[in-house]
Amino acid sequence: MTSRSSVSIQVDRIRCDGYGMCAELLPEMIELDDWGYPIVRPGTVPDGLLEHARRAIEVCPVLAFRLQAVPESAPAPAPIPLRAVPARGAH
Ligand code: SF4
Repeated sequence: MTSRSSVSIQVDRIRCDGYGMCAELLPEMIELDDWGYPIVRPGTVPDGLLEHARRAIEVCPVLAFRLQAVPESAPAPAPIPLRAVPARGAH
């Protein structure tokens, strides 16, 4: 069984100004809509992306990006495929 974190990404859509920095730091889980606002993949943040998710919190200029604990009993939503993103470090 694969280890997974128990946090999900939450974006305050009222506060978000669409700067898009969260998507730059976490393209595996966030893409931007046509207006530059984030579309977040549902579900928990994989363990390997937690550090990037924490960085996204730090760089959000309006504090709209946060991580929320997911109760252990909560069912995991089905993943929604986003567009392919190059692996980190790949050029
Ligand atoms: S970094 Fe913050 S303000 Fe910018 S798109 Fe992400 S949540 Fe919105």
